[in-house]
Amino acid sequence: MKLSYELSAAFQLDYLGMKGRERQRAVAKRILVVEDNDLNRKLFCDVLRANGFEVEPLADGERALDTARQLSPDLIIMDIQLPHVSGVELIEQAKRDLHLQAIPVLAVTAYAAKGDEEKIRAAGAAGYLAKPVSIMPFMTAVRELLPD
Ligand code: MN
Repeated sequence: MKLSYELSAAFQLDYLGMKGRERQRAVAKRILVVEDNDLNRKLFCDVLRANGFEVEPLADGERALDTARQLSPDLIIMDIQLPHVSGVELIEQAKRDLHLQAIPVLAVTAYAAKGDEEKIRAAGAAGYLAKPVSIMPFMTAVRELLPD
């Protein structure tokens, strides 16, 4: 009787622990944040983590596509003004890549000029935000691109 109880308790604990870990893994969506500005990158990542997302910060745009292939994130947040490489070009390349094309991209850009949004969306961005980015519209845009 005692043995059976202990076994069953151990089993339940194990089961609950496993369920918890599995649930966490299933629920926490992963977001790759490509942003060269340290303050913006930290802000985006802090806000996303506070909202339960798993975050991979990346300052180097030239590593964006390789990192995305390794991580298979649920969403990519892409700064458009990056050193050495254009975010628009990265989005176009991602949309031509069989492993990446299904991942939605939320573009974030400073110096939004007339026609910029159209150009960025035409490249394949599913969402678009002009800087400075406020937290509420940012989280709304992120959630719109990550349906349960
Ligand atoms: Mn930038």
